[in-house]
Order: sequence, then C-alpha cells, then structure tokens
Amino acid sequence: MQKPLIHLSDLDRTGTWIKYRNGLCESCMATCCTMPVEVKLGDLVRMQLVDPFEAEGEPPKQIAKRLMKAGVVSHFNFKHSIYTLARRANGDCRYLDPQTRRCTIYATRPNTCRNHPTIGPRPGFCAYRNR
Ligand code: SF4
Repeated sequence: MQKPLIHLSDLDRTGTWIKYRNGLCESCMATCCTMPVEVKLGDLVRMQLVDPFEAEGEPPKQIAKRLMKAGVVSHFNFKHSIYTLARRANGDCRYLDPQTRRCTIYATRPNTCRNHPTIGPRPGFCAYRNR
C-alpha cells in the first residue's frame, strides 16, 4: 500500500506553501483557520453576530466595542471599518472545531475565508499541513 505523503507547510514562510488544488482541504489540518481573519460588517450580519438593524443604526465603533467585550472580535480598524475575529489561545479561529478541524459556521463563513487562497499572503498557494 502506498503511504500518504506528509507535507508540513510553515504558516509563517509562504515559500513552504503548496499550490492549492481541489480536494486538498479534505486532508488538511486547517492551517488557514489559524491566521487572523479580517471581516466586514456584512460578514458579521451573515454570521448573526450583528443584527441588520444594529448594522444600519449603530456606529461601527460601538458595534466593535460590544463584540470585543463579548470576546468575538479582538481588534477594530477604525479607518477601514475592519474587524479582526478573536482566536483561541493556540491561534485557532474560534469557529474551528478543534477535533474535526472543520469550520462550524461553513455556510455563513466570512468572505475572507471564502476567498482563500485566491486572495491572501501568497495567492493560489496555501499552508497545507496534513498532520
Ligand atoms: S470562520 Fe471558519 S473558515 Fe473562517 S477561519 Fe474560522 S473556522 Fe476557518
């Protein structure tokens, strides 16, 4: 029987990343879900973290304050109205299932996640790790 190839990309060294292809995610440990995720207000509404009425009526800074207090957001870029999702102590996204290494909000995940790895530190490549 042929042994599966082991590939361990280093998230911080994009030169070790491999070219993305369909099906790669199935055997990956979700390294991409340990990178900081920047989201917009529309993402937060889709993720049901912000009510559509709140999104229309409340200043983004106030929304950021509330979400930071709730531990959902770790940083807010006031100039560009970009929120950074909080991560667990080990760097995992708070929506990543630690056992299955799968996204628990896949259908409503942020656009940043949808666009990866088309857009990102090394477009077309990802930090694939299969263990
Ligand atoms: S929201 Fe889902 S896809 Fe995006 S980083 Fe978190 S676990 Fe991964």
